Amino acid sequence: MGKEVKKMVYFFQQGAGEGGAEMRWLLGGKGANLAEMANVGLPVPPGFTITTEACREYQTTQTWPEGLEEQIAENLRKLEEVSGRKLGDKQNPLLVSVRSGAAVSMPGMMDTVLNLGLNDDAVRGLAEQSGDARFGWDCYRRFIQMFGNVAMNVPHRDFDDILTRHREKAGVKYDAQLGAEQFREIVESFKEVYVKHAAEEFPVEPMEQLRRAINAVFGSWDNPQAVRYRQIHEIKGLEGTAVNVQTMVFGNMGHRSFTGVGFTRNPATGENKLYGEYLVNAQGEDVVAGIRTPKSVDEMPGEDLSEFPETKVSVEDARELYSAMYERLLEIKEKLETHYSDMQDFEFTTQQGTLYMLQTRTGKRTAEAAVKIAVDMAREGLIEEKAAVLRVDPAQIEQLLHKQFDEKDKEKAEASGRELARGLPASPGAAVGKIALTADDAERMAAAEKEQAAEAGAEPEDIILVRLETSPEDIGGMDAAVGILTARGGMTSHAAVVARGMGKCCVAGCGAVRPDEHGKTVTIAGRDYKEGDVISLDGATGQVFDGAIGLVDPHLTGAFGELMEWADGYRKMGVRANADTPRDARQALEFGAEGIGLCRTEHMFFEETRIAYVRQMMLSAPEVRRVAALLDEREVAVSRAGGEDRSKIEQRIEELRAELKGHRALLESALEKLLPEQRRDFEQIFEVMNGLPVTIRLLDPPLHEFLPHESGIQAELAGQMGMTAQQVAGMVKSLTELNPMLGHRGCRLGVTYPDIYNMQVRAIMEAALACVKKGIEVDPEIMIPLVGAAEELRVTREAAERVCQEVLAGGGVDIPYKIGTMIEVPRAALTADEVAEYAEFFSFGTNDLTQMTYGFSRDDVGTFVPEYVDRGILARDPFQSLDQSGVGQLVEMGVKLGRKRRPDLKIGIRGEHGGDPESVRFCYRVGMDYVSCSPFRVPVARLAAAQVSIELEDEVVAELASARRRPIIASAAAGTGG
Ligand code: ADP
Ligand code: MG
Ligand code: MG
Repeated sequence: MGKEVKKMVYFFQQGAGEGGAEMRWLLGGKGANLAEMANVGLPVPPGFTITTEACREYQTTQTWPEGLEEQIAENLRKLEEVSGRKLGDKQNPLLVSVRSGAAVSMPGMMDTVLNLGLNDDAVRGLAEQSGDARFGWDCYRRFIQMFGNVAMNVPHRDFDDILTRHREKAGVKYDAQLGAEQFREIVESFKEVYVKHAAEEFPVEPMEQLRRAINAVFGSWDNPQAVRYRQIHEIKGLEGTAVNVQTMVFGNMGHRSFTGVGFTRNPATGENKLYGEYLVNAQGEDVVAGIRTPKSVDEMPGEDLSEFPETKVSVEDARELYSAMYERLLEIKEKLETHYSDMQDFEFTTQQGTLYMLQTRTGKRTAEAAVKIAVDMAREGLIEEKAAVLRVDPAQIEQLLHKQFDEKDKEKAEASGRELARGLPASPGAAVGKIALTADDAERMAAAEKEQAAEAGAEPEDIILVRLETSPEDIGGMDAAVGILTARGGMTSHAAVVARGMGKCCVAGCGAVRPDEHGKTVTIAGRDYKEGDVISLDGATGQVFDGAIGLVDPHLTGAFGELMEWADGYRKMGVRANADTPRDARQALEFGAEGIGLCRTEHMFFEETRIAYVRQMMLSAPEVRRVAALLDEREVAVSRAGGEDRSKIEQRIEELRAELKGHRALLESALEKLLPEQRRDFEQIFEVMNGLPVTIRLLDPPLHEFLPHESGIQAELAGQMGMTAQQVAGMVKSLTELNPMLGHRGCRLGVTYPDIYNMQVRAIMEAALACVKKGIEVDPEIMIPLVGAAEELRVTREAAERVCQEVLAGGGVDIPYKIGTMIEVPRAALTADEVAEYAEFFSFGTNDLTQMTYGFSRDDVGTFVPEYVDRGILARDPFQSLDQSGVGQLVEMGVKLGRKRRPDLKIGIRGEHGGDPESVRFCYRVGMDYVSCSPFRVPVARLAAAQVSIELEDEVVAELASARRRPIIASAAAGTGG
């Protein structure tokens, strides 16, 4: 052979793991952390981990890579040695779990098999060894069910039906109340179910069981729900799942045994207190399955085992035992946090009073908890302040900036009896939406709402998914909903965990909810609702309300305020907001914006009182231009003509002059109406911003967006302009363009219809003047859009300067102002040095720049870009996250060339990208002075900008941060062909 065989199996046992936390890319998160916990002396049952690389090879070839067989055999021998048991042994059988676990945690999405190694011989050994026949058969039936489901896709339903039948026959409520004989019968029936579905006998040979379980776990990497989960969470670039083969410990070995999950801090609020749930006499998966509702660990010291009278344990003994176990968990919490210096989510099982650790990982948390935990840990000295700033994911904090219930409105709802029920506060946030009863319905309804809303130009109504409990197949529907309400399950149920990960409001375990997914109805506390009815959820309190409750904007306070202050201490790049109204401007300031990077004037045009004059302006300006051109022609002609011709032309000139006068009068009367309105808009914004820079963009969109296309509106407009409806229709027609986005828009309007820009510049400067006279400072920046050639800017700039000078001379005050341009046409980036000749600032408009660089129409990308992203043709939608390797080159070039010509050129970016953390990082690296984004994303941008400053300065911290983002970055590079 010659070729050296790779190490594909890593052993771990308490005090010695071959791997460690830093090896999660190879060992998966679960495997790496089992090794890490073992290394720091935590009580981990021994086992071994098969690498993700082996999984990838198996997935491609469908056979085990060379050497894997031997390495597994060798490690299994070692495991048998360490545990003193043998797989399949009649007297002393070793039982193992075969567990999935990828580098990035995908809770519950892949498969795990417990109690492997059982057959008709081994089960007797297990019963004898434990002195508990019931326990032995309980393990065996669990194994057949899990193996059957995982390896051969036998539906759980078929097994569950058998269990139900036996429970009914015995007249008991829980499986835990069934006895040895019943479990033995169940095992027989389970085997029959297996044979029926798998068309083979249940495999009795333990090595065969192990081989097939390992392959099934490898294969579970491609479970539909796992694939979907990776899509939704943009998890790419991983090899596959690792497989952990681990000695079983038993939480179902009587009343001194239990199983549970814990968080070292509260994952919903961040409170520094052990948080978790446990179930007595149960095995791992029982907790998540929601069969019995687990108890909070807070109740552990008071556990009296009253649920299990048959155990005959005294209340005192029970309390003593469980108090000690609670103390043990508190020790584990301390140990985990000091070791990992982050909040951990862990699984534990206690077998007859001995606690074992089965898993730990960095706990998923709500945005609120993320912020609180980072700030608290820095204060407690567990991490540095910088690390706290790096720890919080900027994309996640956007949640905190979303709406919350209007307290008054909520109180009113409570007072008027609209509170229907209370469940568990599983994931905070406020949600108002229409009821959907299945995940598919939720997806379908959300899509329909979006479509309808787009047609009506309104906001779509949100959906709330109401389920008995959720399972991994519901992931798509959970994603489509704004809130999730379940009837069953605890704080660590599937619904709760996934909702927190998604940052969605969730109320779980609300017993008053009785959904009927087939009838598409739900009864909540005795009241009937049907699909589409509206309810409201408060995920922080667990309340469920009838109807809608008003929502309000949030505020930055407490830990969040503190974190943002720390971030600002490290941040070097400015953050501004896009704001068109005084209200937006105020919101932006509240979120910490340092100016307005984009104030769009066209939005002001759509106001009801103005739109008619805007249309008049847009119809008459082209007429003025057209007639003026005809007149010019005739005036040249008349000097050359003689006799009769001449008088004909003179007469035509008279007519044209009259016509021009008419159009001009219409244009001027429209401008006169609009000027004071625009002035007022700007004045109010300057007032709010009080001396901070405000970049105002002159009219940008194509005329067609304003033109009246309906005959009713055309007729009205005709009346206003003293024309016939036909004339107006004709004008509209002549202004219609084939490709308006690449047509007569932006500075092209400024060049051809200078009156419009002049009016806007006048309004800006008069507003500035009025403010200064009131003692309010102003810092206006006039921005000319869509420049492709420096000459366009020269012409429009000259006109604008003339107006500015005129206004200032009239006012007798000197107000500094800047004139600059958007860089959004590729040619402007290519010739940025020439453009900079006439610009005091650049603002990159990367929406248009992306559109024109890719040649993707921004308004039509919905039809193919999602598929591109799904198929990995594009790593991400380039309109959401800047395409750094393509469009980014133009940006970088624009910055370099612009600064070459004008070293003090002020440069920023505006639009969607200004609030995308990865794009913000890019902007800082290419040397921009600021980014500008929507007000709600200002804190996101502030945090991202602080993080990139820290990362570029502190290599150690940067290394950690990039490791954290590695899977996504790896795929971004691959996906863009860079
Ligand atoms: P998941 O990724 O879905 O959580 P796990 O591999 O963690 O899957 O296992 C599912 C359940 O089985 C968990 O509750 C876990 O604690 C439990 N479990 C796994 N291995 C063992 C073991 N060796 N002994 C006892 N319980 C186990
Ligand atoms: Mg687990
Ligand atoms: Mg643009």
